Amino acid sequence: MAGAQATVRGWVVHLRSSGKIAFIVMRDGTGLLQVVLVKSQVSPETWERFSQLTLETCLSVTGEVRSEPRAPGGFELGLRDLEVLGSSPIDYPIQPKEHGIDFLLDHRHLWLRSPRQVAILRIRHEIAQAIHDFFYARGFVHIDTPILTAAIGERSGLFQTEYFDEGVAYLAQTGQLYGEAAAAALGCIYTFGPTFRAEKSKTRRHLTEFWMIEPEMAFYDTHDSMRLQEDMLAHIVRRVLERRRPELQVLERDVAALERVRTPFPRIEYSDAVSILQTKGSAIQWGEDLGAEDESLLVEGHETPVFVCNYPKQAKAFYMKENPADPRTVLCDDCLAPEGYGEIIGGSQREDDHDKLVERIREEGLPLDAYGWYLDLRKYGTFVHSGYGLGLERTVAWICGTPHIRECAAFPRMMHRLRP
Ligand code: ATP
Ligand code: MG
Repeated sequence: MAGAQATVRGWVVHLRSSGKIAFIVMRDGTGLLQVVLVKSQVSPETWERFSQLTLETCLSVTGEVRSEPRAPGGFELGLRDLEVLGSSPIDYPIQPKEHGIDFLLDHRHLWLRSPRQVAILRIRHEIAQAIHDFFYARGFVHIDTPILTAAIGERSGLFQTEYFDEGVAYLAQTGQLYGEAAAAALGCIYTFGPTFRAEKSKTRRHLTEFWMIEPEMAFYDTHDSMRLQEDMLAHIVRRVLERRRPELQVLERDVAALERVRTPFPRIEYSDAVSILQTKGSAIQWGEDLGAEDESLLVEGHETPVFVCNYPKQAKAFYMKENPADPRTVLCDDCLAPEGYGEIIGGSQREDDHDKLVERIREEGLPLDAYGWYLDLRKYGTFVHSGYGLGLERTVAWICGTPHIRECAAFPRMMHRLRP
């Protein structure tokens, strides 16, 4: 490569000049390039053009590639010709100094260009591809479930919109129920798409729009499902460590913590989790869901994710299968990421008994007629099956080590943020 002539197009990141020799650091989306101009070796017009450059000017540079160990990437370009493709006024909003988070989010369309954001988005892409590859290798079929749905909510917090003569349509909070129907057709499937929750919570871990991966597996019980979950997470971590080291370095991620992720992950029964938490000073009572602080307390001292299994019925959704060993509880698991990143997966074995499911729908006060098609799956050839939902942004946040998930979506949607 050294010695070759090259033309590179990109944007100005940094400019420096001593009057006789000048440097441009530019980025082209794949990396950084240092460009060197020697005044005595370029035309007066080229030198003049250099002096007009500003941060984020889009330009095309042509010159000779040279080996330079001190330059980013190990090469630099000895400039021969420079062309401005798109000028950039000097008021570029994001300067090399501290900006507040609201300012940065208001300028998200430009903030995306910064090295940290580029690193996060590349890691997000790697994780998404790793997930597709993981399921493809195991013969799972990728299916897309509807985003516009009729009333089939298990919870509050639905976004809604008018839908012609059909009344109100709701934006999907989950594709699971459709995934179950598809599992009876295809065996093992997974979905990978946006889900919507009109949650008024303003935590570090909630977006109103987030991507969820929801596998649904025919003939898997809750233990089979947990084995799949840990294999999937270990695969994702390994893949990012293999292919995205430079990005993890940009983020100053403690890579050793990721390297310690090993299967199997510990399984803690919910009732035991409550006892552990109480001895650690939590106010949690049996029957309640774990709060964010409880989740952090529970993973303390663990280097891998941790499963909390078999929650009380009242804390979980109607479709989870009753635990034969303790009918107060259901066969389910939450997977908690280490280092305090909290729940990243919620999974369960599904209730496959028609009458028990009807009873649970009634108990929850849900409209039975809305679930007619879902009950059909138990009427016509019911089958043991399990599934789970992995939150993509929360997984990215954990692997990148970002304290808030808002940086883990290109254009995050939160209660007070719909633009840009
Ligand atoms: P939490 O209790 O943390 O609000 P949840 O139990 O309501 O989450 P599930 O319905 O189990 O969430 O969804 C499965 C996964 O989807 C979660 O484990 C999480 O990774 C992700 N997830 C859920 N809600 C959100 C959200 N508002 N923003 C981003 N990711 C989310
Ligand atoms: Mg959950």
